[in-house]
Amino acid sequence: MRVLIVGSGGREHALAWKVAASPRVAHVYVAPGNAGTAAEPRCENVPIGADDLPALKAFALRERIDLTIIGPEGPLVLGIVDEFRAAGLRCFGPSRGGARLEGSKAFTKEFLSRHGIPTARYARFTRASFDPGFVRAQRPPIVVKADGLAAGKGVVIAPTHAEALATIEAMFAGAFGSAGETVVVEEFLAGEEASFIVVADGARALPLATSQDHKRIGDGDLGPNTGGMGAYSPAPVVTAAQHARIMREVIEPTIRGLAADGMPYTGFLYAGLMIAADGTPNVIEFNCRLGDPETQPILMRLESDLVDLVEAALDGRLAAAAARWDPRAAVGVVLAAAGYPDAPRKGDPIEGLEAAARLPGKVFHAGTQRAGEQVVTAGGRVLCAVGCGNTVAAAQHAAYALVDTIRFAGMQCRRDIGFRAIARERAAARP
Ligand code: AMP
Repeated sequence: MRVLIVGSGGREHALAWKVAASPRVAHVYVAPGNAGTAAEPRCENVPIGADDLPALKAFALRERIDLTIIGPEGPLVLGIVDEFRAAGLRCFGPSRGGARLEGSKAFTKEFLSRHGIPTARYARFTRASFDPGFVRAQRPPIVVKADGLAAGKGVVIAPTHAEALATIEAMFAGAFGSAGETVVVEEFLAGEEASFIVVADGARALPLATSQDHKRIGDGDLGPNTGGMGAYSPAPVVTAAQHARIMREVIEPTIRGLAADGMPYTGFLYAGLMIAADGTPNVIEFNCRLGDPETQPILMRLESDLVDLVEAALDGRLAAAAARWDPRAAVGVVLAAAGYPDAPRKGDPIEGLEAAARLPGKVFHAGTQRAGEQVVTAGGRVLCAVGCGNTVAAAQHAAYALVDTIRFAGMQCRRDIGFRAIARERAAARP
């Protein structure tokens, strides 16, 4: 088989690496890829941007690609799956309709309410329909979200009414472009966040191993939000009982509801949840693709053939499919560029990759590119070092052994990825 992976981040490096490990796969193209995918055996980068649908389709037809897997949300929201299907190409991901779960927060809130799926109470406004009285009647903090895709930056948790009103005004004024023409105002939910990722075949969902990411830039989950500074799998916050509850109250009604609404969902589906003190799994958001960096530790633990799973989903055969997981834990630590998340610096040479390759675990590339003999930084999140171990603590140790071999100017990384899970392990071990 010839497989095309669309995207250029750490998630796509992990996808390409895992797909290339399938005995059924002869060659993997990554568009546009990074320095890590370029160096992976049986993988090759193609200089086509992830949002360039016409060029991707022309390439897939010309190269007789058997299967395309889409990494990021951009091309999914643009409708790449519909376009590829119309051209007779197998392409894994939701249709444009299903991708609205990520592409429009107002659509998602309306969908969740109509199908009785737990989520924060909300109201949606355009400038014309805006009611400041609604905002003043809320108890702060107040959560304000731009409706459309805003590169993970369209959510503001306003500590006061005045800040909420100013944020809404800024969104209407175009701070997030057209993504802010509609604004969702919602109740603040307390609890512990958990990610829950499944593969869906239009009718059924197969859960992947549980995972949890760390979005804040600083240790202790402090400081500004980022795309994600690290992740681990499994996530002990998701107990077996919680797992069953999330499937029953969130995932299954979502897959059923989308099918009933005429847009059966095929692809990866990521639910960002806030688990309340009483265990209610409230949906904070859906993503129509795998998470980054959650994918890196999850795929490190996947023992099954990813291509088999993807094909089972494309063919509506997930009911008979199963995924085998390495019972060990995996911890992924993101190494970010100087200036991340505001203005990441590019072009800093990266040292120590060869030494890291000799250690157990795996360093996935994200914002990297080759410059002559060197690999240099080329984006905000540069690398994700993943270690495995019998406990989350051991996996964390292995991940930081990798991190400590790598150097580049201005490198930023957290030193505590997995700390909540490790605290749980320690508490469970106490007599
Ligand atoms: P999102 O872009 O929707 O993932 O939101 C970014 C982050 O904002 C989430 O990971 C949560 O930490 C936080 N967040 C979003 N909505 C809420 C909410 N209703 N209550 C509390 N925190 C929220």
